[in-house]
Amino acid sequence: GFNCGIVGLPNVGKSTLFNALTRSGIDAENFPFCTIEPNTGIVPMPDPRLDKLAEIVKPEKVVPTTMEFVDIAGLVEGASKGEGLGNQFLANIRETDAIAHVVRCFEDDNVIHVANQVDPTADIETINLELALADLDAVERSIQRLTRVVKGGDKEAIATKALLDRIQPHLAEGQPLRSFGLDADEQHQLRSFGFLTLKPTMYIANVNEDGFENNPHLDIVREIAAQENAVVVPVCNKLEAEIAELEDEERAMFLEEMGMEEPGLDRVIRAGYGLLGLQTYFTAGVKEVRAWTVKIGATAPQAAGVIHTDFEKGFIRAEVVSYEDFVALGGENGAKEAGKWRLEGKAYVVQDGDVMHFRFNV
Ligand code: GDP
Repeated sequence: GFNCGIVGLPNVGKSTLFNALTRSGIDAENFPFCTIEPNTGIVPMPDPRLDKLAEIVKPEKVVPTTMEFVDIAGLVEGASKGEGLGNQFLANIRETDAIAHVVRCFEDDNVIHVANQVDPTADIETINLELALADLDAVERSIQRLTRVVKGGDKEAIATKALLDRIQPHLAEGQPLRSFGLDADEQHQLRSFGFLTLKPTMYIANVNEDGFENNPHLDIVREIAAQENAVVVPVCNKLEAEIAELEDEERAMFLEEMGMEEPGLDRVIRAGYGLLGLQTYFTAGVKEVRAWTVKIGATAPQAAGVIHTDFEKGFIRAEVVSYEDFVALGGENGAKEAGKWRLEGKAYVVQDGDVMHFRFNV
């Protein structure tokens, strides 16, 4: 599966968001450093298409696809120097596929701010600086190691070292690598380093209930994100935590009262999915209708491999119908009669919403 680490300064609303995401009821207390261990929550991916498919197929079971969120608390100034539990936090972030950076955009005198004022620019810089310094440390160590290796004339090592030499000053200025302008080849060259500031990143602007419009803090986060080509998701984490506590029926009523089409969390989960370049395909059998996650661009055998590695190894063909056709034609039989049920081979590139059935050798 894929996961997204939630980072941010203390007291910006990370635990509140995480609790809402997982409804796990971990204590969100009004003081810094309260959550130390990384907490992991498996969150179902909201997808109305799954319900539509289930209505048609009437299966025994409906299984959504999921996204994992990891609450990485305690990233503070000096973390890259080992302050607090700095190294541990950085190691936890290194293991995530994407980063959700929560930024405080709400005023509340009852909630202490670590720097005594709400200041998204400074908050973002503090976190980005720690991540950049952690990457800088890794770069400098690699440069040292490669300096010895390049003497042997290894072409790949020479190219890698040249690239590290180029990105070093950018990191030394505290800038994230995602704003360096690396091309696809260079990104590929750096992939194995797992740099923190190259991870796909979104900013979660945590606003008050009435803070979605005319909020200068939110505007600032949007400006910074635009410069970095990052995504911003404005959410009121406190409200989301309340919504998450409600029973389904109450929740629907509450959302309607608030004029919201869906919980803000759904936008967070979907943004995380988008950040990672993921898409969904479905299997629709009478036993189980289920959503599965694959990378955009995945081939049919790779999609089969998400279900089971044997499906990928023994892949013969995939039967495929688009979600739209499946629904419009009332399911498998209708799609077959209308000639919309296709047989696809190994090279087929899966499309978002494909309803698939795999044929394979065992
Ligand atoms: P963390 O340290 O980043 O995990 O922050 P918490 O989630 O523990 O939140 C710190 C405090 O801020 C708690 O008292 C929350 O209830 C409060 N809080 C979180 N989100 C909001 C919000 O959107 N508005 C307001 N007013 N308070 C919030």
